[in-house]
Amino acid sequence: MERVDLKGMGRTEVEAFVQSLGLDRFRGKQIFRWIYQEWARDFSPMSDISKGLRQKLSEAAMISELERVQMLESVDGSTKFLFRLADGPHIESVLIPEADRVTLCVSSQAGCPAKCAFCATGNLGYKRNLKAGEIVDQFIHAQRVSRRRISNVVFMGMGEPMLNLDNVLKACRILNDDYGPALSQKKITISTVGIVRGMKKFVVAANKLGLALSLHSADESTRQGIMPVAKKNPLSEIMAQAKRYTELTRRRISFEYLLLGGINDSITDAKKLVKIIHGIPCKINLMRYNPVDGLPFERPREKDVLRFQGYLNPRVYAVTVRESRGVDIKGACGQLAGQMIDQQNHTIKT
Ligand code: SF4
Repeated sequence: MERVDLKGMGRTEVEAFVQSLGLDRFRGKQIFRWIYQEWARDFSPMSDISKGLRQKLSEAAMISELERVQMLESVDGSTKFLFRLADGPHIESVLIPEADRVTLCVSSQAGCPAKCAFCATGNLGYKRNLKAGEIVDQFIHAQRVSRRRISNVVFMGMGEPMLNLDNVLKACRILNDDYGPALSQKKITISTVGIVRGMKKFVVAANKLGLALSLHSADESTRQGIMPVAKKNPLSEIMAQAKRYTELTRRRISFEYLLLGGINDSITDAKKLVKIIHGIPCKINLMRYNPVDGLPFERPREKDVLRFQGYLNPRVYAVTVRESRGVDIKGACGQLAGQMIDQQNHTIKT
């Protein structure tokens, strides 16, 4: 008989599973805690469960794990993990320690079907959606390595979360569970390039989860030129869902704007941005493009970044220029490509 995989099951699912074995429901809560709080790899360390029961459980169930194939530390302290999924594809996560927080950037898909022109993941092609357990396991691996508690999780790694929303939301529920990692919903952010169908579903399910919308341009044709999904997801509908999110959650939305030299970094672009976000409680994160080998985009000039930011500053609630982390290990935004990196020049952790 094939054993049931408990990694990725929510608490009530684990409870239902143990009941199906004829065990008391509270055993499910115990096992859930061992998996997601103590990072147990099997049943042997579960000291509050008798040896006989552990034996019975290990015959019926298992706790799967991602295979970590590489771990690289950047000069700036961030760490990139490369994992191999059981059926072969690779995914990546990036751990980013800062003074006041430790953020983990997780993947939601192997590859990405969105195919944004500036992104290494998009140019890699799409393999498949990740299961909830494969998403949560990125957190467990990173937390084992991190000296500090991971305080924030952002779905900004490989993949478009709105195209795998059920598994993403399930992973969020596990991360938020008091018997699991107990991460506050406010510390978990889902990022999207603007998939209207997914956003409609997300805004009603979000509760207090954060939302980051990758706008990258407020001009429909520029957007369509760099993000093919924009052709089927008009800005008017995307912005309507952005506004609805702020109304239903009473939270600000983050607009992400990747500055690409000579493409979306002019004052005209900044004016269009101010216009389109009018009336939406938000903050804006500007990012400089990180060059990807073989892609025809350039990093913006510093004076253009400052001019863009300077125009926005007095006109919007909050605007920051986010510094990229992990550029040297190809762990920064848009650089994740699920590839091994030459290990000669980098610190390898084992
Ligand atoms: S930027 Fe995000 S949505 Fe676009 S191709 Fe890359 S991973 Fe996919």
